[in-house]
Amino acid sequence: MINSFISLDDLEVIVLDKLKSLGITEKDYPLNPYKLIANEKIILQEVDIDNKDIRGMIVRGANAVGIMINGTRNQRSKNFIAMHELSHFWLHPSEERRVCLDNYIDSQRMYEWQANNAASIALMPTTLLTRLYCECAGNIYCLCDFFDVGIDAMTYRLKNIRRDCLSWNVHTNGYHINFNEFCEKTYNEKLLYNRRYY
Ligand SMILES: [Zn+2]
Repeated sequence: MINSFISLDDLEVIVLDKLKSLGITEKDYPLNPYKLIANEKIILQEVDIDNKDIRGMIVRGANAVGIMINGTRNQRSKNFIAMHELSHFWLHPSEERRVCLDNYIDSQRMYEWQANNAASIALMPTTLLTRLYCECAGNIYCLCDFFDVGIDAMTYRLKNIRRDCLSWNVHTNGYHINFNEFCEKTYNEKLLYNRRYY
């Protein structure tokens, strides 16, 4: 259980340990959060909610836990929401009820930040994502197809892995990830990372 500030690196260790304890390996990707939720015996419901800001909800009862996902979202968005709610289940067991919105204020890296980043790590683990990013020559659409996630989730994840390889692109008015720098730096550090945790 986490109830205070946590770094992204520490969160990654917790999430990877959890997946490892469930026997998840690279062969299980793209990860199916719906299967993981079923394995936890959580009741899952998709409900069409007109308010698009509401992504999902988790409720803990005396005898059961329920997760609700906004059914109006597209499938890739629903995959992310499912993993987000499951992350609350794993990381925040003391909470009885939480409604998850698109926009939240979380400067302290608390529950919503943790669930978003845990979902992001679980669906797109650094080692596998880095390898595929470099093998796919940085083609973001190919990566989204492989991991079954949306463009926004993929972009956010890549930015988190390597902020120092980002540059502001004035033409597209958005961030650009320097491909060579990203692959070179991440691979070098990944060797150290693997030695640290496995
Ligand atoms: Zn949430």
